[in-house]
Amino acid sequence: MTTAIGVVLTDYIAAAKLEDQALSGKVLRYPSDPNAVEALESIPESELVDLLAAQIETLAKDKPGPGKTAHGKTSPIDAIGVAVPGIVRSGVVEESPNLPQMKGMRLAAQLTAALEERGIAAPVYIANDADAVAAGVASTRGRLDKLTCVWTIGKGIGYGRRPHAEGVWEGGHITVTLDPKERYCGCGGVGHLEGIMGYRAMRLRFLDLEPEEVFANARNGDMRCRKFVDLWHRALAAATASFIHLAGPGRFYFTGKNVGFLELPLLRSHLETMVRMSPLQSFSLEVLPPDDETALIGAGVSALRAVKQGAGSRE
Ligand SMILES: [Zn+2]
Repeated sequence: MTTAIGVVLTDYIAAAKLEDQALSGKVLRYPSDPNAVEALESIPESELVDLLAAQIETLAKDKPGPGKTAHGKTSPIDAIGVAVPGIVRSGVVEESPNLPQMKGMRLAAQLTAALEERGIAAPVYIANDADAVAAGVASTRGRLDKLTCVWTIGKGIGYGRRPHAEGVWEGGHITVTLDPKERYCGCGGVGHLEGIMGYRAMRLRFLDLEPEEVFANARNGDMRCRKFVDLWHRALAAATASFIHLAGPGRFYFTGKNVGFLELPLLRSHLETMVRMSPLQSFSLEVLPPDDETALIGAGVSALRAVKQGAGSRE
């Protein structure tokens, strides 16, 4: 049996134990109040490590199950996987526009040390959050060897893929427009997908409306909002079409907190105008309800796999 712990950082921290690559027991959440917004943004780096370590400790020392040893200790943890938004390489968070305090953080090393202080020795593996969702989807749907792509639509826009391919894959920052006025992306880049689709970017664009109101007004026929909602879908179609032209047609999943904004038929109609070569038209599109479970499983499964392969960077 393998025992792993999966942790996901989004607007909050979710953590759970996995036994044989399936969730076991309840999902812990910090802050526990689901209405607390942007709770992690203001937490300094060292405190964040402590918070993560505390959650992992709770799960690691959870009530002894069948794996209990004769000495009254629970079975050892084989791997700990932490999924974070941003560019992650070799356990270091190189960039994280939506959790800026994490930039440059040697998260794997810092968390390993904090856990050792708490008597927990297990390899820690850091993954990009969208990659973790892709790994979770691939693992739970038996698609580990087929091209599986995931767009996470939340505060930022994430792109994850399976099987793993060396690279950065910051799909949310792909350029989808040449309009020099498109400069709302959190990273500062002009014309980026996230500068159109990201939650913060939408708030900057519509200073008088919340993103939820923009989409609601569009449904009620407001022309300004309708025009933007169409741009939002065309941007996602453009980014998806670009990846299809590079990696080939795969199965694209859409998830994340704000996936409710997505109208799949509208996306598909734009995508069909952009992908015209017949060998590339066998892509499929599917919405996944936003949940923490898929990313948690993916974080844990990726960590187990990394341990098995003797640890890597993003895989
Ligand atoms: Zn950007």
